[in-house]
Amino acid sequence: MKETVLTGDRPTGRLHLGHYVGSLRKRKELQDTGLYDMYIMSADMQGLTDNAKNTEKIKQNVFEVVKDNLSIGIDPEKTTIFVQSGVPELTELTTYYLNLVTLSRLKRNPTIKEEIKQRGFEESIPVGFLTYPVSQAADVTAFDATLVPVGDDQIPIMEQVVEIVDTFNKLYGETLVRPKYIVPESKSSSRLPGIDGKLKMSKSAGNCIYLSDDTETVRKKVMSMYTDPNHIRIEDKGDTKNNPVFIYLDAFCTDRKKYEEMKEHYERGGLGDKVVKEYLFEVLENTLKPIREKRKYYDEHMEIVEQIVKDGTEKARKKAKEVLKRVRKSVGVEYFK
Ligand code: ATP
Ligand code: MG
Repeated sequence: MKETVLTGDRPTGRLHLGHYVGSLRKRKELQDTGLYDMYIMSADMQGLTDNAKNTEKIKQNVFEVVKDNLSIGIDPEKTTIFVQSGVPELTELTTYYLNLVTLSRLKRNPTIKEEIKQRGFEESIPVGFLTYPVSQAADVTAFDATLVPVGDDQIPIMEQVVEIVDTFNKLYGETLVRPKYIVPESKSSSRLPGIDGKLKMSKSAGNCIYLSDDTETVRKKVMSMYTDPNHIRIEDKGDTKNNPVFIYLDAFCTDRKKYEEMKEHYERGGLGDKVVKEYLFEVLENTLKPIREKRKYYDEHMEIVEQIVKDGTEKARKKAKEVLKRVRKSVGVEYFK
């Protein structure tokens, strides 16, 4: 049987370079092997968990993240693209799973903890937000997904998803498929930092280069990037480890020899930030140019994008219905012939 891949993006903004190296690049690679059934979800319900008062933002971005996926080469002929709220079966699955998770376990999840802090929720945490790992378990299991490609902030969430699957199967009998998750091999790609040098490029932190940024914007952002603050004169020795310019080069540069040479030169002293940034700009443009071109097509053909999501959602719903039937049977909520 074919393996199944499920991934998704929160429509809280357009997608950026962090998404690209953390998850999108892998999706395209997996899609092109032809070995997987693949589902990609615009996770509007999850987006709402911390944007209940800002529904307009989610609405505006549902199709934006779809266009981002299409632009990097996701092919709707091969991959099912759908919107989470179009599959209400996911909500029912979530309800069964909620009973298998304790409040303290949810509060202990390190990613949730960090995100609560980042969003300034303190004690006023929306319950929907705290329980998003549970709804993520529904998203993954509803399609019998075997593989979930994610960035490393999602590892604790996926660990909890697997725990829920194990608890369910133990309690109600083998019903759910146990998923595996994969993160990019290199640290640079599994958590790409922001252009401001902060730990993670993230929509919420506003430190992103978006896949849809135009050439001039990309140039400006690259030229303003944080580097090594102690690398003042060109001849100074520079740090490349905590320097986002070099981390981006590591994640994107295909000419490894040139990358290694530059890195070594910068560390030894004698290589200026401007030269490295010019090169990074060139490298990024190589990736971004074809993406931008594809995006332009979809921007001009919104009706095609909408049809893709409509068809995909219908197909996704069919599959989720099957799984939900299995789950209902296992739990024992079947009363009528
Ligand atoms: P938000 O701030 O709204 O949570 P986000 O930028 O974290 O947005 P998500 O939609 O939550 O984006 O993440 C989608 C996928 O992209 C996840 O698998 C996540 O791990 C990955 N990802 C997000 N940011 C990065 C990053 N900077 N580096 C690598 N992977 C990332
Ligand atoms: Mg996130």
